[in-house]
Amino acid sequence: MLVSDLNHFLDLSDGAPAPAWRLAQHFGNIVRAATAGDERVGDWWTSALPCRRRPGRRPCPGRITIVRQQPPAPIQWRCNVCADEGVISNWEGSPYDLRRRRLTAVGTVNEINITDEVATALRELMLLDPDCERLVFSMHAHHGGAVLHASEGDLEELIGGVAAEANHETNRRRQRRLDSAFDALNAAAQTLTGR
Ligand SMILES: [Zn+2]
Repeated sequence: MLVSDLNHFLDLSDGAPAPAWRLAQHFGNIVRAATAGDERVGDWWTSALPCRRRPGRRPCPGRITIVRQQPPAPIQWRCNVCADEGVISNWEGSPYDLRRRRLTAVGTVNEINITDEVATALRELMLLDPDCERLVFSMHAHHGGAVLHASEGDLEELIGGVAAEANHETNRRRQRRLDSAFDALNAAAQTLTGR
């Protein structure tokens, strides 16, 4: 059981070793997922976040299952395959705390299935506003990929965000990933408007 205080990972120095940075990103993503969606406090659910472990040098195929209680109780998480598990404290009010400050009106919410590659590209976006960030980190695991819960308006915002970032990306490999995420989301949007 990994017991982590998020504060220790928020102010990592530039010289911190790569494994510490990877853990910091993993914990940050778990806190974002735990606070992004509309799951009820106290309900376990399986996010689209992949497990970080590599037993036998192969990535664990598991997804991270999460439950959040009212703060200051820590967020609990565990892998649904290898049983890697932990708790994260001091998440409340951190930059990863995506709980809504106010209620927002939403249109009809659609379930959009995406591949793991697209889900990963979306998680790597740097310039998302909090609403888009909530969409990305509230994704559930689904049939080996992920399911996005979004209205047509949400999806449009997200596509705009991907396009903006793809335009500014100088790394070719990353740009290709963003381009294919853009195509996948666009195809989903067209299916929604076409019915
Ligand atoms: Zn695992």
